[in-house]
Amino acid sequence: MSGVLVVMEQRAEASGQCAAWHRMSWETLAAGQQLAAQMGLKAYAVVVGQGIGALAEELARKKLDHVHAVEHALLATYTADGFTSALEQLIRKFHPSIVLFPHTYQVRDFAPKLATRFSQVLVSDSVGFRLESGAPIFVRQLFQGKLNADVKLGGGEPHFASIQAGAFRADQVEAGTSQVVQFTPELTADMIRAKPHEPFREAARAVDLTTADIIVSVGRGIKEKDNIPIVEELAKALGAELAASRPICDSGWLPMERQVGSSGQTVSPKMYLAVGISGAIQHLVGMKGAKTIVAINKDANAPIFEVADYGIVGDLFEVVPALIEEVKKARS
Ligand SMILES: Cc1cc2nc3c(=O)[nH]c(=O)nc-3n(C[C@H](O)[C@H](O)[C@H](O)COP(=O)(O)OP(=O)(O)OC[C@H]3O[C@@H](n4cnc5c(N)ncnc54)[C@H](O)[C@@H]3O)c2cc1C
Repeated sequence: MSGVLVVMEQRAEASGQCAAWHRMSWETLAAGQQLAAQMGLKAYAVVVGQGIGALAEELARKKLDHVHAVEHALLATYTADGFTSALEQLIRKFHPSIVLFPHTYQVRDFAPKLATRFSQVLVSDSVGFRLESGAPIFVRQLFQGKLNADVKLGGGEPHFASIQAGAFRADQVEAGTSQVVQFTPELTADMIRAKPHEPFREAARAVDLTTADIIVSVGRGIKEKDNIPIVEELAKALGAELAASRPICDSGWLPMERQVGSSGQTVSPKMYLAVGISGAIQHLVGMKGAKTIVAINKDANAPIFEVADYGIVGDLFEVVPALIEEVKKARS
């Protein structure tokens, strides 16, 4: 095959029926298409599971050489043993040069084991790549994003890398037409040592900021807890989710599940409105994948303006109420 193979992740329902794609799969597919184009290679994608026909057909409407549908009854529910064996068999048969994964919890569970089967390592959590003399160099962040490390791929092919959430844009996946190629791995029940339970789900009250289209995020510039309703009102007017920098959550002014950043959620909404947030690197790694970033800060030199598409230098206590009024007018 000698191309870039993107391993897509789908989430199965409790019934074992496939439900939906993991959002990060599309970001990784965009990365795979771009890497393949830059290297002059073909791009492929694979979906693993049971009853995945519709998902494979959906993938076949993307710009890919072809789509592998790896199906088996023993893959109905995720297990590291099953997925590793199935993908190992596929890779040994088709010989991709590079295998890309979304850096999900599931991938963290099985992809290092899969790479080891080929005496390789997984270049995990990559935020980008570039070519040097035709060879890809993957970029990984170290020390909470303070340093970027360039990772050269050693040894023979295939190489394995996972892509961090928000590093590539799902809406940059290119459409096209390809065909689905079925692959039935040889699996037996005794190969699967784990007995899967229900997949972990966040508590019902938990907020999933990763699916929000618009996020209004508040930082220490808000000064005290009693001022939070000011930004809450802006979020409501915009139909946005409310998020925060770490000090706001550490102080208990908003719940921890609303924290964005290296120790919070990684988000990539259409618009991220940062209110009174300085733009520390630990915050930026969690939101720099947003399509449009708007910042309100009274300090013109605040680092948040380096990543902002639109910036308002001003006092949030004046700017936010005026903005709410304008949004309400525009929506009425
Ligand atoms: C291991 C580690 C992990 C971390 N993880 C995270 C993380 O996940 N998420 C995170 O956010 N941080 C994280 N941090 C903390 C991070 O380093 C910063 O301390 C934090 O992001 C700063 O939050 P802030 O921007 O709200 O506050 P500050 O840095 O204090 O910035 C407040 C900003 O508000 C502006 N401002 C003040 N008054 C006004 C006003 N009236 N109008 C407009 N603007 C005003 C100021 O100019 C300033 O820029 C982490 C730190 C470490 C060491």
